[in-house]
Amino acid sequence: MSRFWNTKTRQIEPYVAGEQPGNPSEWIKLNTNENPYPPSPAVTEAIMNELYAGTDMDSEKVGNRVLKVSNTVLREVGDVLRFYPNPDADDFLEAICERFSLRREQVFAGNGSDEILAFSFIAFWDRDRPVMAPAVSYSFYPVYADIFDIPLKRVPMTNGLEVDVDGIISGDGGVVIANPNAPTSVALTLHDIRRILDSRRNEVVLVDEAYIDYGGESAITLLPEYENLLVVRTLSKSYSLAGMRVGFAAGSPELIEGLRRVRDSFNSYPLDRLAIAAGAAAIRDIDYFEESREMVLSTRARTAAELCSLGFRMPDSSTNFLFVTHPDHAAKDIFMHLRERKMLVRYFNKPDIDNYLRITIGTDKEMDLLVSALKEILAEE
Ligand SMILES: *Cc1c(COP(=O)(O)O)cnc(C)c1O
Repeated sequence: MSRFWNTKTRQIEPYVAGEQPGNPSEWIKLNTNENPYPPSPAVTEAIMNELYAGTDMDSEKVGNRVLKVSNTVLREVGDVLRFYPNPDADDFLEAICERFSLRREQVFAGNGSDEILAFSFIAFWDRDRPVMAPAVSYSFYPVYADIFDIPLKRVPMTNGLEVDVDGIISGDGGVVIANPNAPTSVALTLHDIRRILDSRRNEVVLVDEAYIDYGGESAITLLPEYENLLVVRTLSKSYSLAGMRVGFAAGSPELIEGLRRVRDSFNSYPLDRLAIAAGAAAIRDIDYFEESREMVLSTRARTAAELCSLGFRMPDSSTNFLFVTHPDHAAKDIFMHLRERKMLVRYFNKPDIDNYLRITIGTDKEMDLLVSALKEILAEE
C-alpha cells in the first residue's frame, strides 16, 4: 500500500497474466495461448516496408546487413515514426472489412482486444446498467467491472464447465461471453448465442471470439440481424501477433460509434504504425493463416488423445488449448513439477477450476516433450 494511491487503486485486484519468462526460448511455454508458429513472412515484410516508407530505398535490397553498418540509413529508415499513426487504423480495418464482408462503420480497432473490452465496459454499462458473465470465464471481465464500478453478475456453470444459457436468458442487463469460452475450451452453438441476443434486445451482448478460429461458429454472421451484438476478436492467437497488440470489434454503427467516443476520450491512436501494417498484412495472408491453424488443430487432436491415454480428462476443445484434469493427481502438483522442468502451463487457483490445467497447443515437438514429462511425473507421484 502506498499513501499516494487513491481508494480505487488500493481496492482493485488486478488481472494476473500468465508468467512471461525473461528468455522465452529457454522454456516450453504453453501458458498464455500464444501461437507456436511465427506470423506470416508478409507481416515482417510489411513492418519493414512501413519503416522504409519515407525513403526511396527498397527494403529488400538494403536488407539487414546494411542496416547494421550505416547510421545514416538507420536514421532515414523509420523517419515515418515521427508522425502519429492513422487514428482509425484505416489499412487494417480495410483488410478486416474485405475479409469479413463488413462496412467501415461496423468495425473498430484496438490495442489488443483487451483494450476493446475495457472500452466496452466504459461505453455500454454502469452502476445502473449491470452486466452478466459466466462464473468460469476470462478473468479480465471481473477486473474491468470492478475498476469501472459496474455490478457484474456471475452465472454459475452447469455440469461443471458448461455455460448456463438459460440462466443468462432469465437475467437482465448486458452480457459478456467468451465463445469459445476460456479457460474451459468449450463453445456454445450459434443457436444459443442467438437466444441470448433475443433475450436482450435493449442491452449490449459482447461475444469475445478470441478463439473462434479454432472451433465454434462466429457470431459475425448475425450482425445484420442484431443491433445489440458486439463481436470482439484478437490477432494475438490465431494470427501469431500477441507481441504487436492488435484486436478488432465488429458491431452495429451505433455500438462502434460508442467505442469511438470512449477511445477519443482516452487515447486517439491506440494502434501504432507498425501494428497497423502488421495487422493488415496478417489478415490478408489467408493461405498462411489457414496453414498454421490446421497445424494447431492436428496437434490438438493428437495431444488430446495422448493425454487421455495418460488418464487425463477434458472437454472437447474448440480452442488452441486443452483444459485438463486428472482423477489421481492434483493439478497444482503437476503444474509445479512441469515448471521445474522449464515447462509452463497455466494453473488457476480459483473455485471450480483449481484442479485443472490449461495447456496451450504448441508445436508437435513441444507437445511430445510435454507428454513424456507428464508420463514421468505421473509415475513418480
Ligand atoms: C487472449 C484473450 C484476450 C486478449 O487478447 P489481446 O488481443 O491479446 O488483448 C481476450 N479475450 C480472451 C478470452 C482471451 O483469451
